This record gives sequence, structure tokens and C-alpha cells, in this order.
Amino acid sequence: MKLDGLDYLDLSSHLKENEIMVQQSTREFVNNEILPIIDKHFENGTFPDNLTSKIADMGFFGITLPKEDGYGGMNNIIYGLVCQEIERGDSGIRSFISVQNSLVMFPIHAFGSDVQKQKWLPLLANGESIGSFGLTEPDHGSDPGSMDTKAVKGDGGYILNGAKMWITNGSIADVSIDWAKTEDGVVRGFLIEKEMEGLTAPEMKHKWSLRASITSELIFQDVYVPEENLLPGVEGLKGPLACLSQARYGIGWGAVGSAMAVYEASVKYAKDRKQFGKPIGSFQLVQEKLVWMLTEITKGQLLAYHTGKNKDAGTVTVQQISMLKRNNTWMARECAKLAREIHGANGISGEYPIMRHLMNMESVYTYEGTFDMHTLILGEDITGIPSFR
Ligand SMILES: Cc1cc2nc3c(=O)[nH]c(=O)nc-3n(C[C@H](O)[C@H](O)[C@H](O)COP(=O)(O)OP(=O)(O)OC[C@H]3O[C@@H](n4cnc5c(N)ncnc54)[C@H](O)[C@@H]3O)c2cc1C
Repeated sequence: MKLDGLDYLDLSSHLKENEIMVQQSTREFVNNEILPIIDKHFENGTFPDNLTSKIADMGFFGITLPKEDGYGGMNNIIYGLVCQEIERGDSGIRSFISVQNSLVMFPIHAFGSDVQKQKWLPLLANGESIGSFGLTEPDHGSDPGSMDTKAVKGDGGYILNGAKMWITNGSIADVSIDWAKTEDGVVRGFLIEKEMEGLTAPEMKHKWSLRASITSELIFQDVYVPEENLLPGVEGLKGPLACLSQARYGIGWGAVGSAMAVYEASVKYAKDRKQFGKPIGSFQLVQEKLVWMLTEITKGQLLAYHTGKNKDAGTVTVQQISMLKRNNTWMARECAKLAREIHGANGISGEYPIMRHLMNMESVYTYEGTFDMHTLILGEDITGIPSFR
């Protein structure tokens, strides 16, 4: 069996049959359900919420959680291939799936109480409930350890005050895993439910990137959170960072999908578009751009695949995941820029998918740790010297 689409180094020959089958069915899902509607949603700045139940039916929510608990039980290569294919459609939809899996279901499964697991995981898996993850604040992005949101112990629970910003799915979330500092300065995770008094979640408008994804503020004004909504299994910044490692892994694969989409569109365009009486693909400068894209995409696939193998073996390091996220989002952003050039004026038109991917990639390059922050994480790993704290 072969992977569908770009597979220059024959990665298929290293994959198991079920891994290729999930890739193929995800590709069909994207072709049938996402590509026909995504440009309209991107242009209008709306999230295609009718996709939620279809994504749940595909089994993408909770895809790597254990089979014995009733979830997907799939390995990390399959999860990666799903992210790749979905982002071949659109980064906003992949972000939606990443948040639900890596930033909401993962922490509840890994750090939640039995009651929290029983209450939320089935609803999140079948798409009846949507989740979000609030770490970033108006004044604290790359440095979440300095967060201002406070959780003060009250009668049978905590009183939360503060604000989060740039929160994917925030306004549509039934439950949000939000991080706040207790009076002793320790970061803790809380399950904030949408009907809790004092919580408001206005959508952030005027975004020119990830337009088919909802991004919100979360404002906590004396929100009373009962003790049973505290995530019991983790304390400190390592809680949110563990979630981010999961999500960054999926982003590293997803970026490959975005790059594949703009590369494939560019090859087609280079063969179709004629100037000076010849296809532009006959010009050496255009061929060089295509070769650069293909080579970098292929290297990105290998990086993603090998990181996935390490993750499945339980040996992956956070620094390896940083390398994957850093390289592949950079690679996809560069591919989108080159694809824009190859498409000439058409590259800025909504008739082609290029500008949508290019604009999306600006967020993907920045969120979950900017390119530069991942550089510094790797710099510390190489030298043993932290440069940013
Ligand atoms: C569309 C979108 C969706 C998002 N979804 C979520 C979400 O669901 N949940 C969530 O919690 N967050 C989310 N984020 C927030 C995202 O994770 C942050 O934007 C990101 O971590 C960067 O933080 P910042 O924007 O505050 O930039 P800053 O931290 O202010 O950084 C600004 C610039 O300074 C650089 N910089 C900062 N510190 C250093 C340093 N020590 N050395 C060198 N350079 C430095 C950065 O690399 C960057 O270039 C989302 C963001 C976007 C755009």
C-alpha cells in the first residue's frame, strides 16, 4: 500500500497498513468535507461547526487515548498523519482537533480525577462538548510562568481572577483547562465550565490568520471554581508544558500538510501557466523553487516520522519536539511564500489556496512557542546554558 500524495522518499514502505489506511481515509474526509467549504469560512471568518460531529465520527477526538478506556488507541504515527492530512485542508481545523486532543483530553486523562474523566472525556470524544486551553495572557505569552491569573482558596474551592488571551475555541468551549497561580505561587490547572458565574469569553475579531478557527479572550471575575474542578494530578508549569509538548508534536506533522498543499498547487500551476510561450515550470528559477519545496517537505516528513517513532517508543524529548515544531512550521511558512511567488498575482487571490495557507502559517509559526523560543530551547540543550530565564 502507498501513502496518498507526496511521498518522494517512499515513506510508505516504512508504514504499517493501518497507518496508511487512516491517512487515506483522512485524505478523503478532507477532500469531501473540508476543501469544498473552507474558503467560504476563511473569507467570512467563521468556524464550520457542522464539522464537529463528523470529526468525532471519524474518531479523531481521543485518537491516541487507550483503547481499553474506550478511545482510539492509535499510535503517534497515525495521529501525526491525521494532523498532516487535516492541515492539508486548513490549519484552523487542525488547530481545533489539536486543542481538543492535546490540550483538553490529554490533561484530563493524564492529570484528572476519576470523576472529571468520567464526566468530560466521553462528551469530548463524541464531540458533544468542546474544550479550550487557557495559558496565554494579555501580558504573558512566551513567559507563561509570570502569569497574573490568581486562584485564591475559598470555601470548598477557589476564586479565580484574571484574563487569558488568544484562546482557540474559547467562546464555544463547554469546558476550558485554564491555568492560574494559587496564593503560594504554584501554577494549577482548573476545569472552568462555561456556565460558571463571572466567566466571559468574547471572540477576538479582525484576525488575518486562522480565520476558520475561533479565537477568544477569557475573563475571570471572581469565578468560583469548586475543589472538584481542580486538576489534581499535576502542579507547576510542567502541567501546561506537558500539554504543549503533545500539541507541538501534532503541529510538526500538520505543518507538513500545509506545505504539501501549496507545493502540489504550485506544481500544477507551473505546468498550466504559460509565459513567453512556455509553461513557467520550464524556467529554471521556477524549477529551483519547486525543488527547494520538495526537498524541505521530504526532510520535514522524515523529522516528523522519526519523532513519532521516538514518541511511540517513549524516548522522545521535549527538545526533539521543539526541533520538529520549529523546523516544520518554518519550512511550511517558506513553502507558502515560494508558492505565492510561483502563482504571481493569482497567489494573492482567494481562488487559490495559497494565501490562506500563508496567512494561517503566521499563527502556526508563532503559537505553542515561537520559532525563536524553540531556538532558545534547543540552544540551552546544546550548551547547557539557559538564555531566556
Ligand atoms: C491564532 C492563535 C491561537 C492561539 N491559541 C492559543 C490557545 O488556545 N491557548 C493559549 O494559551 N495560547 C494560544 N495562543 C497564544 C500563543 O501561544 C502565543 O501567542 C505565543 O506563545 C507567543 O506569545 P506572545 O504572542 O505573547 O508573544 P511574546 O511572548 O510577547 O513574544 C513576542 C516576540 O518576542 C520574542 N521573545 C519573547 N521572549 C524572548 C526571549 N527571551 N528571547 C528572544 N526573543 C523573545 C518572541 O519570539 C516573539 O518574536 C494562540 C495564538 C494565536 C495567534
